[in-house]
Amino acid sequence: MTSSLLETGGATPRTAPARPNLNDVDFSRAPFVVIWETTQACDLACRHCRAYGRPRRDARELTTDEAKRLMDTVRTFGRPLFIFTGGDPLKRPDIVELVSYGNAIGLRVAMTPSGTPLITPEIIGQLANAGLARLAISLDGSTAAVHDGFRGVPGSYDLTIRMIRAARALGLSTQINTTVSNHNIEDFDALCELMTELGIALWSVFFVVPTGRAKPGDIASPEQFERVFNRMYDLSKTAPFDIKSTAAPQYRRVILQRKRAEQEAAGTSSPLEPLTGGVGFSLADGIGRAKGVNEANGFVFVSHRGEIFPSGFMPVSAGNVRTHDLVDVYRNSALFRSLRDPAQLKGKCGMCEFRGICGGSRSRAYALTGDPLESEPFCVHVPAAYAEAVARGEAEPVEEYFTRRVPGWHRDARIDDRRTFTGANES
Ligand code: SF4
Repeated sequence: MTSSLLETGGATPRTAPARPNLNDVDFSRAPFVVIWETTQACDLACRHCRAYGRPRRDARELTTDEAKRLMDTVRTFGRPLFIFTGGDPLKRPDIVELVSYGNAIGLRVAMTPSGTPLITPEIIGQLANAGLARLAISLDGSTAAVHDGFRGVPGSYDLTIRMIRAARALGLSTQINTTVSNHNIEDFDALCELMTELGIALWSVFFVVPTGRAKPGDIASPEQFERVFNRMYDLSKTAPFDIKSTAAPQYRRVILQRKRAEQEAAGTSSPLEPLTGGVGFSLADGIGRAKGVNEANGFVFVSHRGEIFPSGFMPVSAGNVRTHDLVDVYRNSALFRSLRDPAQLKGKCGMCEFRGICGGSRSRAYALTGDPLESEPFCVHVPAAYAEAVARGEAEPVEEYFTRRVPGWHRDARIDDRRTFTGANES
């Protein structure tokens, strides 16, 4: 890491741990990221909350000792990134102890607290001293009106901005998570402007998956996804932070397409990498970036009750850490193995030349069709092989394909009016 990157990245890491090699993890053997849902308790009422956040804790949450045993098991994978999420992890009184434990056994630990009065400069200081490598904070609008409307609690925007500044003042690396939906899609350009002022290491842009409180009608259109991907790529060229997508691996397809087009325009060629240009910012705090993480493929989620899911957005259990070996479930369960196998993908994802680096959001496909291996409906790309199969009469046209598989799918709604859309999980 050069000093200039640290300067432009804003926060100065306290002591940067050894950098993980982006290519040294075999995702069939070990995840790059393990996310533990510490609790579903939270004082916010976010309209898209995956976890149905509610004020009180569940008595069946993993105990302190169980959480430590979970971290011991995770450590046998190597040194994955271990993320404490929620709900709001600060609703657990043992959270600083658990961060300290994870750090002591050699895990790289990060946390996603909620923007509520529980997050104070004092608790941020305690977490930093306990060894937290990065604080990941949700910010969904460039103004209080947009963000607080999304999060359901007035004052959350101001608290969030104060939390980011307090973390920076302590030298704690920060990441911002933004959920893109119909409710803030028009605010995206203003959010891009705001991000450059905040001194963050990584901007993780989430694309709504209709699970928990989120509804299919909250999802922006495939064309709006594409505009946001292109805006993210443009920003990545100059931003003093890294940018990644979550629940939208199609962004990696856009990166490759844009880089190829740039090479053709310049008359050059060289190996292409489907990451943004500046992974250096994510290396500054030792966290780094994976080459391309998808559900069950470099990624595993453990629920507050210990259920082992491919993702927090795909609540399909392959076991429980109370009764199953997490390592065995990750490596050998039929669900996890199938999700890592691009040859099992269906529809246009199954014929796509980008399926190796993309594969579509398995969570969104599952939420909308009930089949985790179905094609991602929210991608504009039509693979040449699929178009040829349609021309030969061997595959359905894309609109007909999704009309038959996604309840409520409407071919016009797919393009410009999502208000008429009623999907599989809509209540
Ligand atoms: S068709 Fe599927 S695999 Fe191909 S780019 Fe789109 S989402 Fe990814």
